Amino acid sequence: MTTNELEIVQSTSKKDKPSQDQVPFGTIFTDHMFTMEYEAGKGWFEPKIVPYAPLTLDPAAMIFHYGQTVFEGLKAYRTEEGRVLLFRPEKNFERLNLSSERLSIPPIDENVVLEYLTKLIELEKDWVPSTAGTSLYIRPFIISTEANLAVAPSKTYKFMIIMSPVGSYFTGGLKPVTIHVEDQFTRAVKGGTGMAKTAGNYSSGYQAQANAKKLGNADVLWLDGVEKKYIEEVGSMNIFFKINGEVVTPALNGSILKGITRMSIIELLGTWGIEVNEKKISIDEIYQAFQDGLIEEVFGTGTAAVISPVGELNWQGKKMIINNHEIGELSQKLYDTITGIQTGKVEDTMGWTVEVK
Ligand SMILES: *Cc1c(COP(=O)(O)O)cnc(C)c1O
Repeated sequence: MTTNELEIVQSTSKKDKPSQDQVPFGTIFTDHMFTMEYEAGKGWFEPKIVPYAPLTLDPAAMIFHYGQTVFEGLKAYRTEEGRVLLFRPEKNFERLNLSSERLSIPPIDENVVLEYLTKLIELEKDWVPSTAGTSLYIRPFIISTEANLAVAPSKTYKFMIIMSPVGSYFTGGLKPVTIHVEDQFTRAVKGGTGMAKTAGNYSSGYQAQANAKKLGNADVLWLDGVEKKYIEEVGSMNIFFKINGEVVTPALNGSILKGITRMSIIELLGTWGIEVNEKKISIDEIYQAFQDGLIEEVFGTGTAAVISPVGELNWQGKKMIINNHEIGELSQKLYDTITGIQTGKVEDTMGWTVEVK
């Protein structure tokens, strides 16, 4: 028996599909999931598509104690003709391996795993919603499963893919959000795990997010962990500014997550003749530009929202209102183009989409 042939166990009872526009993010899952095991000395084995179900794990499984885990997030989109498209999925598996390397997790074979994902989506095609702004959110992840309390890398892992239909991120168009510039808590520091999609980076941000919400903000803008001076990210998105005609974004420095949306925006703007200046950007510099009336647009970027315009930044009691709380022209154009490519409405001249047949 070969252990590397994909086994498919079909679910005998199919769940009801939720109404397309009222699905709270990440609460409903498709009928099947993908699983694969790893053992030191043996490698990855037993790839399977099985009915979606809870796991049984030893309470001493390392994931519960030391957080050795990584994840990814991507989406499948439905076109008007009913085709199903993925957006640059190979970049997600490439990044998963980068995250794994940082967390001492063994790499997966990116191409083979993309084939397994394709098989899973083929089986769950009916779950890809079609209403404007909806998609099927895909969550690949790896957990450490060895039952052992020693502080050392696990010798066994489980790789899984689960999928969840999601409604439109913005109901009623893009709405600029109010953001608190965080100067107490830190998301990540250079040399830490900020560039990896790993669990602890997110739970360590909750306290700052709760404080920001209490003050009437939707989320936080993270500054660098050493000087609390340089801009890193907004919530779990990358951030861009348009200042006096120039587009700038923080340069990747080891603590910033390397967003695929960020990369795509830089590449797309390049084809429009707009060069993005990737550099260190201080919050003082942003405040000065604001006072000089030079800040034209601010927006976050990520798979969930694609573009999330920022309408207001609050920093140490100072309020910066951006573009009169309205969405900027460039933000709107980027949103329309990228979501257009993802859903087949705009021709994909970049070669970014992969069709699942
Ligand atoms: C996932 C993520 C992003 C955005 O990455 P995309 O690939 O564009 O979805 C940005 N920042 C953080 C912290 C993230 O986890």
